[in-house]
Amino acid sequence: MPESPEVQALAEFLDESATTRTVEAVDVAEFRAQKTRDRPLSTLVGARIDGVRRFGKHVDIGTDAGHLVVTFGRAGWARWDGDAAPDDAPVIATFDLSGAVLQFTDGGDWLSLGLHVVDDPREVPAIAALGPDPLDPDFDAGAFAARAFGRRKQLKALLQEQESIAGIGNAYSDEILHVARLSPIAHANTLDDAERSRLLASITGVMRDAAASRRGIPLSQQKAAKVAAMRVHGRVGQTCPVCGGEVLDLPGSKAGAQYCPVCQTGGTPL
Ligand SMILES: [Zn+2]
Repeated sequence: MPESPEVQALAEFLDESATTRTVEAVDVAEFRAQKTRDRPLSTLVGARIDGVRRFGKHVDIGTDAGHLVVTFGRAGWARWDGDAAPDDAPVIATFDLSGAVLQFTDGGDWLSLGLHVVDDPREVPAIAALGPDPLDPDFDAGAFAARAFGRRKQLKALLQEQESIAGIGNAYSDEILHVARLSPIAHANTLDDAERSRLLASITGVMRDAAASRRGIPLSQQKAAKVAAMRVHGRVGQTCPVCGGEVLDLPGSKAGAQYCPVCQTGGTPL
């Protein structure tokens, strides 16, 4: 699942590479990916792209005929000019631009890529509901704290709740909690001041470091770069880079989550 560091790299690449190009043709292979029935993707034919931005884990491609908002879901991604994706994910939609081809893919067992054509990106409910974004230079840690620390909600789930904080998914939530030395199942309302401070510092530190590391990497290599950079996520049975202990699976996590018991749960496995 692409999270905000990868989506930021994609938005920056498209902003540089696609801006000023015209949409010459659109081919949709899976119509279910079109989320705005009254405005199909074909309404963008003839439009000129005037800039690309990121909102949380979504990309907003601005044109003079409206915005194309792409939600990547679990396994969506983009491909530029035939650059082969290593996972060979099926193409969901193809945009022939003047002098280049932009495709959106989905490698999941079920379709999770969504394509919306709107006048304003905030018309997409998932974007309108986004909480503060730690990649934003003006990130409002106080606003996140106000949404988070009074609640009896597990930290792992809280960090992935886009309405509380934008852009974090399953992988970076594991990494943030490892760096903060906090249990993924600790409830937000039980943290003391020192733990709250560690969590806030870890959120911005992990997400900003990741965004800086992903910048400029080709789209087809983003997933591999993300996987290679993980400390505990996806590394069950491997050695924790901090303490040398064994990384374990979080029990009951459907998507697969990992943690270090020595660093995060006082040495006791969950
Ligand atoms: Zn450790």
